[in-house]
Amino acid sequence: MASQVTFIGAGNMASAIFGGMIDGGYPADAITATARDDNRLAPLRSRYGIHATTDNDAAVANADVVVLAVKPQVMRAVCEAMRDAVQTRKPLIVSVAAGLTAETLDDWLGGGLAVIRCMPNTPSLVGAGASGLYANARVSDDQRSLATTLLEAVGLVEWVDDEALLEAVTAVSGSGPAYFFLIFEALEDAGKRLGLPPQSARRLALQTAFGAARMAQQSEFDPAQLKRNVMSPGGTTERAIQSFEDGGLRQLFENATQACALRAREMA
Ligand code: NAP
Repeated sequence: MASQVTFIGAGNMASAIFGGMIDGGYPADAITATARDDNRLAPLRSRYGIHATTDNDAAVANADVVVLAVKPQVMRAVCEAMRDAVQTRKPLIVSVAAGLTAETLDDWLGGGLAVIRCMPNTPSLVGAGASGLYANARVSDDQRSLATTLLEAVGLVEWVDDEALLEAVTAVSGSGPAYFFLIFEALEDAGKRLGLPPQSARRLALQTAFGAARMAQQSEFDPAQLKRNVMSPGGTTERAIQSFEDGGLRQLFENATQACALRAREMA
């Protein structure tokens, strides 16, 4: 029988995950989601066929897994209010909230719990996410597998064995979509300055990014080799890449990711 999974919070991230689970064949009647406002829940019941309630304690009472998917700023109040229900059931806790450590969440929920902390990213909303996961020492192998299954419903899952590495995950994939959006924006603008119609510049930039990522994922070569493969000596690509290298692009990525990881540490 499928594990009972309860989502505390039924917003963007929660609905992306349970929507992906259901698309992948997970039984909807094994899923419960909660929100404060029942008007939010009615469409979820009819669209997905899941259980939905405004009562967090009731939703936790028969849960094998509780996914914490409310905003970080309300997490403490939400956790402390359902502490007794969680301590009675002791489900696996999976948090997708940015910046809250496994120990902090465990503490707010009364302690002694198996906690998985997950750093997802926004492309999860279109089923192409990348999530970094960390498990505290109480999490069993079966619970790890279950969490992998849940998060793989919205994309790639990578485990880290040191919670501090979630800062590196934040710097690479958590915040990473915005780096690529910046690159798309810059490439589109550059194309327009070279005379392309705006729509063409955007379409070409986005499809090129998509194609490069897909090719890199499918290829037997690493990205450095794929780059060399498009750089014929004295050719156009070589000239462009040299310009990026001369301009310090690698150092900019180094600086940006260090700054991001530092900020993640400050916020934890
Ligand atoms: P969201 O769309 O604003 O959803 C938050 C949900 O929490 C709403 O359904 C809200 O219900 C519910 N909620 C608030 N207070 C509650 C309570 N006391 N009991 C039960 N439910 C309650 O937020 P989101 O974007 O999904 O983000 C959720 C978490 O995911 C955050 O911790 C965030 O850090 C993390 N995350 C999100 C993304 C992303 O791409 N969106 C990426 C990485 C991490 P009402 O509408 O009824 O208030």
